Amino acid sequence: MLTDYHLHLRPDEAGTTYERYFTSENVERYLAAARERGIEELGVSEHVYRFAAALDLWSHPLWVENAVDDLDAYCEFVRSTPLRLGIECDYVPGAEERTETLLAAHDLDYVVGSVHFVGDGDAAVDHDGFDVWNGADADEVWSRYFDAFGRCARSGLFDILAHPDLVKVWGRDRPAPEGDLRRFYEPAIEAIAESGIAVEISTAGLRKPVGELYPARGFAELCVEAGAPFALSSDAHLPEQVGFEYDRAVEFLDAIGVGEICVFEQRRRSLAPLGSRVG
Ligand SMILES: [Zn+2]
Ligand SMILES: [Zn+2]
Repeated sequence: MLTDYHLHLRPDEAGTTYERYFTSENVERYLAAARERGIEELGVSEHVYRFAAALDLWSHPLWVENAVDDLDAYCEFVRSTPLRLGIECDYVPGAEERTETLLAAHDLDYVVGSVHFVGDGDAAVDHDGFDVWNGADADEVWSRYFDAFGRCARSGLFDILAHPDLVKVWGRDRPAPEGDLRRFYEPAIEAIAESGIAVEISTAGLRKPVGELYPARGFAELCVEAGAPFALSSDAHLPEQVGFEYDRAVEFLDAIGVGEICVFEQRRRSLAPLGSRVG
């Protein structure tokens, strides 16, 4: 079994419209790419901040600008296709109850929980417009990121933890902490172990300046020791990114001794043997 659960039908760029991307023709392009690459399970997980309902959780300027789509219409559309229905939902500290209410009101197959924004204010680790890195200290940013990531796991709101070490996204373009990175990882690993949440292996990092899978091998090995299950995704924003570089992800999972991946339906998880990429 190969899955691709963390997918976006629409690119992140401004000016894209719901009507243009949420069509059966566009879904068919994703399905065709998946078939070609031997991926049996495909699901879509649009960013929560695309939906008007997200403004119940947070009024970040990026959200206010983007939160125009109707979440019910999205769910209904995805249910009319062969895709699994997911959503990528940011962990918003302090909005746990409202997040739970929003998620419970929809018939989702899984929820991908993510951390992009860290610390006080609007700053993000991966967004040029809200860059946390403006002269910030690397140790401080990494600590804040992994602290938020651990809280995201512990919140119990989500099924899959997205792109675990996203904080490294810029690679050499931003400062990096020195020495053994386990001092940042360990509190998050403890939260992962206690919560039982699935950890995403994402090939998206291979398309970013860092040029690596998320997470780093050191992080993934600690997850294995902690008994965490893994979910496999590309975080594609275009059909041609479906299953992006999956041969590298499969090789990585083999190398750390993981032979099963998570499959989701109606927010219930099961494990399936890890497949190998075809085509
Ligand atoms: Zn994300
Ligand atoms: Zn995403």
